[in-house]
Amino acid sequence: MTDLTSPDTYPTDSTMRPKGPIGFTIVARDPQSLARAGVMTTPHGTVPTPMFMPVGTQASVKALTPEDLQLLGARIILSNTYHLLLRPGPELVERFGGLHSFMGWDGPILTDSGGFQVFSLGHLRALNDDGVTFHSHLDGARIQLDPERVMRIEAQLGADIILPLDECPPYPCDLATMRAATERTHRWAERALAARVRPTEQGLFGIPQGGMSAELRAWSAATIGALPFDGFSIGGLSVGESKDLMWSMLEAAIPELPDGKPRHLLGVGSPEDLLAGVARGIDLFDCVLPTRVARNGGLFTDDGRVNIRTARFREQQGPLSDDCDCWTCQHFSAGYLHHLARAQELLYYRLGTIHNLRYMVRLADRMRVAILAGDFGTFHDTFLARYRPASAEKREEQRQKWIIRHGAHPDRTPGERSE
Ligand SMILES: [Zn+2]
Repeated sequence: MTDLTSPDTYPTDSTMRPKGPIGFTIVARDPQSLARAGVMTTPHGTVPTPMFMPVGTQASVKALTPEDLQLLGARIILSNTYHLLLRPGPELVERFGGLHSFMGWDGPILTDSGGFQVFSLGHLRALNDDGVTFHSHLDGARIQLDPERVMRIEAQLGADIILPLDECPPYPCDLATMRAATERTHRWAERALAARVRPTEQGLFGIPQGGMSAELRAWSAATIGALPFDGFSIGGLSVGESKDLMWSMLEAAIPELPDGKPRHLLGVGSPEDLLAGVARGIDLFDCVLPTRVARNGGLFTDDGRVNIRTARFREQQGPLSDDCDCWTCQHFSAGYLHHLARAQELLYYRLGTIHNLRYMVRLADRMRVAILAGDFGTFHDTFLARYRPASAEKREEQRQKWIIRHGAHPDRTPGERSE
């Protein structure tokens, strides 16, 4: 009998193997919440869930080698179709044998559709039922995307899991705009399914939208959930709304999705978001936050995010965190990291990124272990009682600073979903 609770095993019994490229087995459920632990199979390996996916926008997780990623326990990474479409181009990636061989990562990869970046760029020139036309942020070239072309591009990139083109409505916007974007997303979802290029090698996840309307969220999840997708990537959240609103939208959507398929929450999150998302039934997360804040000195600990550049770390001879098992904390003192970060030494970017990604991957694993032990509720409450999230005021302050500098909210720039 296969031990399904081990992340490294998957049914050897052929009757239990998935028919399509993506399999998903739920191995334990939390009795008090919607949290579940599972095993997802892909053509390039198995992924225990819950899982956090590091983001490798330009076919690279910034500052890390594939070996670093393996060492820190990353099991699947996300790459951004929009950026790879512009540079180096999907044809070139295909000539190199696809993303896996191009970037030297032989584990699972998920590519988004590029839609989020297109809609949040502000370079959008035209949008209708056929597709979207926009200008490249690199050289201004006019580029057209439609659901069929996105399927062809993602086939060339060759990820294990691909996403269809969707329309992410702006935030805030009126109900009619949310409804129109959701309806178009549904029409495009059907076109993407019909236009799959490598259906036996690549899983296709559907994207439920619905803006900030609970009714539309439920309807979109039911509509997309009824289509033959291999899993679901919930879109259009974490676009500037409050956390409370985001979680209420998720709560409206989740019950309408098929229970037995993996659920990914696009572009979320922070350590505290992982807890909240898992409790609401999410299996997969991706976000640039851990890598981006690491490069700015922000490192995660169970007490909250600290800034390694602050003077309190100058003399600390022990690791940043005694209970962190990452390669950085095993080899270097907090005082050394403090020095590297202040001196803006290149090595700091690698060491800081390794720490934060290991923290996220390990947090997902700790949740998995708790779910398997039937003890997720205790883990959840104990973790949040100790973890001090970046305060709402601090976030608002950062947001205002960004608006002054860049004239747009960071959540509405392509940067938040890619880097
Ligand atoms: Zn560490």
